Amino acid sequence: MAHAMTIASYGTVALLVAAGSGSRAGGGTPKQYRMIGGKAVMAHAVDALAQHGGIDAIFVMIGAGQQEIARTMLGDRTVAALIEGADSRRGSVKAGLDAIAAAGGAEHVLIHDAARPFLPGVVIDRLLDALASHDGAVPALPVADTLVRGTAEIMGEGVARDALYRVQTPQAFAFDAIMAAHDIWDVSREATDDAQILSAAGHDVWLVEGDERLEKLTYARDFERAEARMGTGMTVRVGMGYDVHRLAPNEQLWLGGVLVPHDRGLAGHSDADVALHAIVDAMLGALAEGDIGSHFPPSDAQWRGASSDRFLAYARDRVKARGGRIDHVDLTIICEAPKIGPHRDAMRMRIAEILAVPVDHVSVKATTTERLGFAGRREGIAAQAVATLSLPALS
Ligand code: MG
Repeated sequence: MAHAMTIASYGTVALLVAAGSGSRAGGGTPKQYRMIGGKAVMAHAVDALAQHGGIDAIFVMIGAGQQEIARTMLGDRTVAALIEGADSRRGSVKAGLDAIAAAGGAEHVLIHDAARPFLPGVVIDRLLDALASHDGAVPALPVADTLVRGTAEIMGEGVARDALYRVQTPQAFAFDAIMAAHDIWDVSREATDDAQILSAAGHDVWLVEGDERLEKLTYARDFERAEARMGTGMTVRVGMGYDVHRLAPNEQLWLGGVLVPHDRGLAGHSDADVALHAIVDAMLGALAEGDIGSHFPPSDAQWRGASSDRFLAYARDRVKARGGRIDHVDLTIICEAPKIGPHRDAMRMRIAEILAVPVDHVSVKATTTERLGFAGRREGIAAQAVATLSLPALS
């Protein structure tokens, strides 16, 4: 049968299923809204998906009446839609697929359970790689324990485990294939996952390597373990930045986010705040996300005369998007004049304000170069910065 060709408006979308009213984990609140490391389980899942460069939009299925709590827990995170799901998981997924289709469709969809919030980017990479040659792919882990059949008390026969896998999510599909498979699924039967539904429609589902960190949060002890891991699940990253701008007459001197009275100012495409530029580069360095020029090209007219506050706020938001934390910034301003000491605390406070960190996380130092070199001749000002970040070890 020939299908009409449709132009999918998305490449790869994620469909996050967070529609449970789950109570097995205790605590009363549905588990997707329980906090781990100060952040809702659902928000961890959204962040993990959003951080991956290969996902264009996130559709979230929530339970009936959960719009308000979901919006609160997501804060300023961007999702394409928050949709109230059905009574069953399968029904919720179907409603989500319909919503994606109504939004123009997609080439690929990753269907993910919010109860598996700790999603390493490498698993998404493996799934998307598999979709290049298969209509379905799921992460799976071999079973290590001996398996037996039995009643609650009496052990029965053993089960060969060498052909058994634990299947996780996200499950990745060609959008049209999983849509069609859901359409023909016998709705009098339930399915615990979407791979079964695609498989029942006659497609092969490819197994890619899963990850222990993707384990489902089900019981109270799962939350305790996840909470404990959060404390040790961060890795420290250090980045350095260096910048120089020329001093020129008839310019304002913006330094460290502060307007400093001086007979000359720094010249450059933006406000040329050499100190903030060095900090931005240090932060981007710690993230391994290029440099200030690659994010704000000098050739782009919109940055002419721009306040460098915006660049620093952008770097702060990049750290936040990665689920990270700014631990410390140490700045050194290198100039013969003006004297930095009288402005040091104002700079620290302004930088801390933009970065949304306590002021004791920001150090501002200054040095001259004993009248040597361009700084010594008062031709320009240089700045060096070191940024220390904590980023989730998941990646
Ligand atoms: Mg610069």
